Amino acid sequence: MSNIVAIVGRPNVGKSTLFNRLIKERQAIMDDQSGVTRDRHYGHAFWTEQYFTVIDTGGYVVGSEDVFEDAIREQVEIAMEEATVILFMVDSMSGLTDLDKDFANVVRKSKKPVFLVANKAETVERQHATAEFYELGLGDPYPVSSQTGHGTGDLLDDVVKHFKTAGIEDPDAGIPKISILGRPNVGKSSFLNVLTGKERSIVTDIAGTTRDAINTHYKAFGKDFILVDTAGIRRKAKVKDAIEFYSTLRTVKAMEESDVVIVMLDATRGLEAQDMHIIGMAHKAKKGILIMINKWDLVEKDSKTVDKLRKEMLERLAPMDYMPIIFASVVEKQRIFQVMEKAMEVYENKTKKITTSRLNEVMQAEIEKYPPPAHRGKHIKIKYMIQLPTPSPTFVMFCNYPKHIKEPYVRYLENRMRDNFGFEGAPITIFFREK
Ligand code: GDP
Ligand code: GDP
Repeated sequence: MSNIVAIVGRPNVGKSTLFNRLIKERQAIMDDQSGVTRDRHYGHAFWTEQYFTVIDTGGYVVGSEDVFEDAIREQVEIAMEEATVILFMVDSMSGLTDLDKDFANVVRKSKKPVFLVANKAETVERQHATAEFYELGLGDPYPVSSQTGHGTGDLLDDVVKHFKTAGIEDPDAGIPKISILGRPNVGKSSFLNVLTGKERSIVTDIAGTTRDAINTHYKAFGKDFILVDTAGIRRKAKVKDAIEFYSTLRTVKAMEESDVVIVMLDATRGLEAQDMHIIGMAHKAKKGILIMINKWDLVEKDSKTVDKLRKEMLERLAPMDYMPIIFASVVEKQRIFQVMEKAMEVYENKTKKITTSRLNEVMQAEIEKYPPPAHRGKHIKIKYMIQLPTPSPTFVMFCNYPKHIKEPYVRYLENRMRDNFGFEGAPITIFFREK
């Protein structure tokens, strides 16, 4: 279930401060591992046993301090369409402004739950002053301090009540969900058309029209899977700044819904910054990943080109170098079934469970070959390990000094697991606990 919380509001009220607070812990863990450039505007948060996605809308349209621009309006509208819950933030230190009222006029039309968050309410005076925000017609303000965290717990307790939960049995449970993501024009809709064998309307020309994702059931190689179709839904954003925001949100939503992400690149352009960004997001979200290099028909090549390009690409992706890369052409129908076959394999790898006895037997031998380096004369011993029943391979290793196990050694363990158990395309997480 993907639940998205969008933070909207005029500049300087403290949106990114709250955003950073919400995603803090997880972001820190993931950045250490991946070395991926951090996306300032999108991250995962966790509250009372539930993960959710947080989007700080502030970063996308810079705007000015006092003008409510079309780009901002459009962005808020998009956030309202796509998010599960809206946090509309105001500033209790500066009080109510005209710009807040402009925002409120848009936000009030939302069919989604809106929380009026009065930030910077560290003092009792400011907490009392938040009463003036009633005037906005958005209900009780929640006084919080993004800086100290005061009040944010109460806010989140109420926010999570609005989340879609897995309470209702998902009829598609157990069937892998696959999405095809990539920059515009790489060939995503062409690929979907070939796979599903039907033309689909690509762009809805009426501005502001959106449809919900169409998930197409598909059968191949005796397997059932679902294609999370996003190529067919393109909102025509009117304002340039809003386009990037919208496409990011779409990508994020589709990704959150999938088990495996096929990241499609254009062979004539190679691995670009935006591709790295999509791959980084999928890695952080712990999705199965496969890279499909499309338009291979347009590339001049000899017998060595594939190996050379694959090697170069994996070097650039490191340490996210665990994913399969397939060179394909949708137009010439070259290796497109191989892509789907591989996607299914990645799903199997991602959901694979290793028994505790085999895990310990194999990995203890690897640890014996190359034990964790001692820390200040302290001998570090990994005693035993288990795999958690999570949607992606996650392991807990019990040891005497968990804090002194360094990143390079974690990489060593991860690579040995990959060698022994074959987790191609699946991100691996290892936690260390004291025992
Ligand atoms: P944004 O433009 O809405 O993303 O706002 P920022 O998060 O960049 O914050 C704007 C300014 O307000 C910064 O100087 C922050 O340090 C400050 N700020 C943010 N949250 C709080 C808060 O809870 N209390 C106080 N006193 N200042 C805050
Ligand atoms: P999307 O924006 O990612 O959905 O991309 P489209 O499916 O609309 O494709 C963009 C353009 O690339 C179209 O003109 C396609 O015909 C073309 N295209 C897609 N796949 C291939 C391919 O494998 N080879 C070549 N030469 N062109 C392709």
